[in-house]
Amino acid sequence: MSDQAVSHRKPEWLKIRLNTTDNYHFLKKLMRAENLHTVCEEARCPNLQECWGTLRTASFMLLGDTCTRRCRFCAVNTGLPGAVDKLEPLRVAAAVEHMKLKHVHVTMVNRDDLADGGASVMAATVRAIRWRSPECSVEVLTSDFMGSEEAIGAVAESSPDIISHNVETVRRLTPRVRSRSSYDRSLEFLRIARRLAPEMVTKSSIMLGLGESFEEVEETLGDLRSCGVDVVNIGQYLQPTRNHIPVRRYWTPEEFQQLKGIAMEKGFLYCEAGPFVRSSYHADVQFQGFQQHLSQLRSARQVARPPVSS
Ligand code: SF4
Repeated sequence: MSDQAVSHRKPEWLKIRLNTTDNYHFLKKLMRAENLHTVCEEARCPNLQECWGTLRTASFMLLGDTCTRRCRFCAVNTGLPGAVDKLEPLRVAAAVEHMKLKHVHVTMVNRDDLADGGASVMAATVRAIRWRSPECSVEVLTSDFMGSEEAIGAVAESSPDIISHNVETVRRLTPRVRSRSSYDRSLEFLRIARRLAPEMVTKSSIMLGLGESFEEVEETLGDLRSCGVDVVNIGQYLQPTRNHIPVRRYWTPEEFQQLKGIAMEKGFLYCEAGPFVRSSYHADVQFQGFQQHLSQLRSARQVARPPVSS
């Protein structure tokens, strides 16, 4: 398959109005002052104005701004990252408190250069947030840790409310889109997380527009469910720069709704689907949305939410 792109003109439903507000400037200043990174900025997320400007929320990105992999869809810098900043978890926790967040989304770059892939830093961040903001729910989106059960276990032990790892695309396209990752390793990550932390919600996300068929998306949803994934987000891929893999198709809002229906039929607890949906998009609203079903889900799995340790 070639990398033939669709026209550069985006459909009407993907046009964004730029508007910076006091909230936007507040967050920008806070991130610079605390030397923190967000995936919102580094990945050039199209929702920056809405999340920062209106909702005053962000997705923190741990372990620096440089990723050791080179996924063709992602705008985050790649190369050899710098040393681990041991105080980063504390600064993230301070920022969460300062922002008065009720729900926080924390992600990370891939750190294949570190023995534990950065799992200990993610775990330390969850604990630091729990300590400073005990009422804040915590959602983590991690790398695959090369499938290391020990690393996945270290994050699970820190007891986030949601543990997620993104499969990103369908099986056939994974080698083209995420050449240093593997579809099966991502599924295995989710299977291990489900087994190690049955009381936690597991989540994954898929982006569309890279040349996948409707049937392949359905198959991926089935694969995620077979690993016990509870929540799935489905969004439209947008090419961040000309050097990234081109968009092959813009899926319509109606098609996203159709896929949401299929996901719910397959038994997901929750599915957010739409052109602007990303893993962290409306994460707080989403968490509230399925809160009421959580106790039911945990009693079906015969587990209780453990007390949080700081
Ligand atoms: S959708 Fe996620 S990554 Fe994008 S701006 Fe919002 S919080 Fe940041």
